[in-house]
Amino acid sequence: MDPDTFRQARWDEPTLFDLDEGPAPEGPFDHETTNEANLPDEHARETVGIPTVPRSRLTRHLTRQAQMTFGVDTGTYPLGSCTMKYNAKMPEPLAHEPDLLNVHPLAREEDAQGILALLYQLQEALAAIGGLPHVSLQPAAGAQGEFVAMRMVRERFRDLGEISEETRCEVVVPDSAHGTNPASAAMAGFEVLEIPSGSDGCVDVKALEDAVSERTAAFMLTNPNTLGIFERDVEKIAEIVHDAGAMLYYDGANLNAILGKTNPGAMGFDIMHFNVHKTFATPHGGGGPGAGPVACTEELAPYLPVPRVKKGKDGLYVLDDGDERSIGAVKGFHGNVGVLVRALAYIRQHGSDGLTRVTETAVANANYLYQRIKDAYPAPGEALKKHEFVVTAEGLWEENGVGATEVGKRLLDYGIHAPTVHFPINVKESLMIEPTETETREALDALVDALLSIGDEAPGVVREAPFNTAAGRVDDVHAARNPLLTWDQVQRDQDGS
Ligand SMILES: *Cc1c(COP(=O)(O)O)cnc(C)c1O
Repeated sequence: MDPDTFRQARWDEPTLFDLDEGPAPEGPFDHETTNEANLPDEHARETVGIPTVPRSRLTRHLTRQAQMTFGVDTGTYPLGSCTMKYNAKMPEPLAHEPDLLNVHPLAREEDAQGILALLYQLQEALAAIGGLPHVSLQPAAGAQGEFVAMRMVRERFRDLGEISEETRCEVVVPDSAHGTNPASAAMAGFEVLEIPSGSDGCVDVKALEDAVSERTAAFMLTNPNTLGIFERDVEKIAEIVHDAGAMLYYDGANLNAILGKTNPGAMGFDIMHFNVHKTFATPHGGGGPGAGPVACTEELAPYLPVPRVKKGKDGLYVLDDGDERSIGAVKGFHGNVGVLVRALAYIRQHGSDGLTRVTETAVANANYLYQRIKDAYPAPGEALKKHEFVVTAEGLWEENGVGATEVGKRLLDYGIHAPTVHFPINVKESLMIEPTETETREALDALVDALLSIGDEAPGVVREAPFNTAAGRVDDVHAARNPLLTWDQVQRDQDGS
């Protein structure tokens, strides 16, 4: 396969501030600055400090930026754990309906029945999919859903009188857990205890048995786990956790591997989050927006964030603020409604048979891919894969210094986004690959060809890649540690202040 079939646009594009033409000319488009909002003078600004750029130039600026970006609409994007699937564009116009966009969040319930009905339907659909009866749509991301759930677990044990420095003070996570799991538990005030995985990549049941006690408030697990392997012992795990008096938490990021096959409620989980921006629509590249609804058992329901949508006796939808046991609001108003509407549209478009097919196709695609590359990129353990899998580039790394990072960067030259690299950290030189159900056989074969030919290429070339993208080897550690996200920050950086 020829890596030069892909070439990204490479514009020498200045920032909008460099294109600033100064004060806007007088004319039909001139906006006078007025203080219509009646802000106190000390808060009202004369200028807002945004550049004046002709509309045509602005459009070109944004189009050029898009041409220098790689997205799921450009090519295959097998970023494991993130579920970057192509979503049909059908939910977009629905989420942009003026009747939805223009509803004021403080509108009276009787004037907002349409949107409340949609949110109610989504709560019902998620309860059915999760096998857990009560849902709050409020959290803005999976990570916030985890935090909310850990706060709820804490409040529940507080009400039971079991929280102390020695009891229900700890949350157990496997070493393959997503980094947000221990972070959320710690933010909710728990100590975090990590347990090692077994050699098969699954929870080591013996280690779990040894770890849980009356100190344990919850065990956090994703199933299938981060290696894309279904935890066969999940019922035993649930029993161990419940026998210790603790709660079992389901990280829903991998839900697209089990839709219509099983569900967290049936597996014995007490509480979970959904990443609707992974499983149901709105791929979350670029960091948002997302939504992380939480579902739970009857016992935990009073602690859910509010408001939640309920159906009144007269058939009208109402916002329910719960009682003093609720952990309260964690996001403005009803959550990220636009993302929630897209998720409902996706769920309704597929229906329950369709969602089952989504899972079957995602799992078949991952296994097809794995079978074709496993000789060059082996996986730890021989367990059957679900919707994603983790392989290692350790062989290539030892042979010629081409590791997971180099393979990922070189894939870009083939017009394919890098998989997740160096995660999970319990596998050396790991590449975590998730094709999703939306990639065609042709696209999967192209990914296989690219991965195999990179293994045969001159190591010196691969180490310098990418060549065909707008930016080459960026210093991502520097970028992550010193983010310059606003023009003010860039200026301050330039002034050295
Ligand atoms: C993505 C992910 C999360 C966090 O979800 P966000 O919506 O990105 O905050 C948590 N756990 C796993 C396994 C994930 O893949």
